[in-house]
Amino acid sequence: MNQRPPLHLDGNCLAGPLSQVFALDPTTARWWCPECRTPSSVGELHVYGPEPGLTGRCPGCAQLALRVVTQPGHLWLQLGTGQGAFRFVLPPSSS
Ligand SMILES: [Zn+2]
Repeated sequence: MNQRPPLHLDGNCLAGPLSQVFALDPTTARWWCPECRTPSSVGELHVYGPEPGLTGRCPGCAQLALRVVTQPGHLWLQLGTGQGAFRFVLPPSSS
């Protein structure tokens, strides 16, 4: 029987990139979808990627929750559907 690979990863795959920015476990952070009001944690988001970055979406309606893009020396973080993103400078050992 053929099984198709999953179309998305779970939000726990964001732990590595986000732990470079946040000292606490980011996958336990709670989020409420502004579109369908589904409460979830970062770890429960449906994540697509990896290129051009990891995109976390609401498990209820696929609303964009966050994007994480890593580049040599930098990590970009976009929260929600707003324009713009945070750019963090990574330590040299993380590049
Ligand atoms: Zn939603």
